[in-house]
Amino acid sequence: MSDAGSGLDAFVRAWAREIIGTSYVPMTRAQTVDFLRGRADLLVGSLTAETFDAGAGYAVGTTLARADFTAPEALGRTIALMKARFLADVGLSTAVPTDADSAAEADRRLAALIGALAEGFARAVRDRTLDAQDDMRRAALRAKAAAERAVRDSEARVLHAALHDQLTGLPNRALFTQELARTLAAPPAPRLAVCFVGLDRFKLINGTFGPAVGDRVLVLVAEQLRALADEHDCLVARIGGDEFAFLVPDTTCTDDALKFADRALRRIAEPVCLDGRDVPLSASAGVLERSADGGDPEDVMRAVGVTLQWAKADGRARCAQFDPDRNTGDVARYALSAAMPAGLRNDEFVLFYQPLVELVSGQPVGMEALARWRHPVRGLLSPNEFIGLAEDSGLIVGLGLRLLEKACRQAEAWRWRGPGAPFVSVNLAVQQIRDPGLVAQVADVLDRVGLPPELLQLEITESAVMSIDDHSLGTLRALRRLGVRLVIDDFGTGYANLSYLCDLPVDGLKLAATFMQGLDDDPDCKRSALLDAMVAVGHRVGLSVTAEGVETPAQADRLRRLGCDLAQGWLFGRPVPPEELFS
Ligand code: C2E
Ligand code: CA
Ligand code: CA
Repeated sequence: MSDAGSGLDAFVRAWAREIIGTSYVPMTRAQTVDFLRGRADLLVGSLTAETFDAGAGYAVGTTLARADFTAPEALGRTIALMKARFLADVGLSTAVPTDADSAAEADRRLAALIGALAEGFARAVRDRTLDAQDDMRRAALRAKAAAERAVRDSEARVLHAALHDQLTGLPNRALFTQELARTLAAPPAPRLAVCFVGLDRFKLINGTFGPAVGDRVLVLVAEQLRALADEHDCLVARIGGDEFAFLVPDTTCTDDALKFADRALRRIAEPVCLDGRDVPLSASAGVLERSADGGDPEDVMRAVGVTLQWAKADGRARCAQFDPDRNTGDVARYALSAAMPAGLRNDEFVLFYQPLVELVSGQPVGMEALARWRHPVRGLLSPNEFIGLAEDSGLIVGLGLRLLEKACRQAEAWRWRGPGAPFVSVNLAVQQIRDPGLVAQVADVLDRVGLPPELLQLEITESAVMSIDDHSLGTLRALRRLGVRLVIDDFGTGYANLSYLCDLPVDGLKLAATFMQGLDDDPDCKRSALLDAMVAVGHRVGLSVTAEGVETPAQADRLRRLGCDLAQGWLFGRPVPPEELFS
């Protein structure tokens, strides 16, 4: 060590060697050497200062740690190196005799510097650890807040998706029902209205223009209805494929609600042009306006849904208003319809018989079989109460076949009473005629029961005849080939083109009871003239003619004079159970 400068350099290089690699420090070797050189200069300055201050040691310890030399080895090796050679390298060692006092002072100062360096280092490392912990704590808090926000956002997104319609962005049925429940629980006004709007024949639009156009129509309609809802400060939702709902929270009367619904229908009916094509649109509405407090929202939704169906059933493009009586009737009919299959299984459907009398002889030559339902709770039900329901549900086909067999067994039983046994006349519903299995079923019944086919007559209403297609016409011909007689029931009520009488394979007409009205009071009235003509028309095309609804001897007289063949009505006997006949 020739001089303090080069000695210090050697110390600095040695120092760098010792501490590089003890921790990860983002400095090159040269930078490290530079950095340590600065620290070493400080230490030297302090050792040689006139008045000594160990603060330089503290500062060096601190900067070491702050420069990321934080490993305990960095401190340990620094101290060891300083003790071993610092004084010698900088020319202050006792080994280099200057004067003993100053050498001792240098030792003392070095010890103090080392102590302060260790303290500065320790303090800085501790501060850094605390800072790092603090940073970590803060980062953790930030991450937690971000995560919570993300969860909240995604929950909000999921909730929004669950309560809104994807296509139109409108609230959906769930949200609408929620809002309705809230309004019913805490009504803002004394009365409210719920209005459902359904597009008419939307399936046809989808089918004609394609589902993409269908979707665009729905979006357009949604926009129109949203604008209307905004104007009236009420809620609109899409509650089904082509159905929308309004909650009008402050109506004063039903008229209010109907006017509102009408406005919605008129908006929808405005012409829509998509891709240069006119898409005709109309809609129907169901409206329920009521006092706002209380009630089950689901009940309200159901009632308005039913009301919308009324509007559609009544001809579409109109508003219907909820009617509790009509609803009660619907509910009762639905219950009755639902009870029918069990009624069929339990053999609750029976036949009453009403005589068909030959006007010339006054003899009963046939019996019309008329259905009755011995309902376990409601008692004896007339066919007007359940045949329509059976037609709607399709059960009429099974029921009709069961009744046909019953009637044939009854006719077969009469046959055993002796000669001149009456034929039985059974009513057929239009679905039965369309059923491809009918001919085989009739043949099978006749065969099993052993009834000659000429003792079976089948009645088909004129309105059913009007809807007959080629296939059903084939069915009628095949029935006739079996030897069964066919008559047109309620003739004169179906407004048919009379030319069909020439083409249909039928044997007779049953004139509707309406033609009997008025005959008593005025035999020359127009109705009477019509009756004359009907009987004549029937006979001219080779058909037998039966008059229905004959209640008085005067009517029977008149019919006899007209040459009408058979008559049926209260005058000759009401429909009764078979055991009451011939008694
Ligand atoms: P319909 O075939 O025209 O039957 C005649 C209806 O007129 C019967 O009513 C009968 O009770 C009633 N009637 C008979 N004489 C008189 C009279 O002098 N004056 C008045 N005002 N009415 C009279 P019902 O039994 O209630 O049957 C009603 C309708 O139900 C029948 O009309 C028929 O269309 C249908 N129906 C009855 N049974 C069956 C069945 O088994 N199958 C099918 N598909 N329909 C049936
Ligand atoms: Ca009939
Ligand atoms: Ca009839």
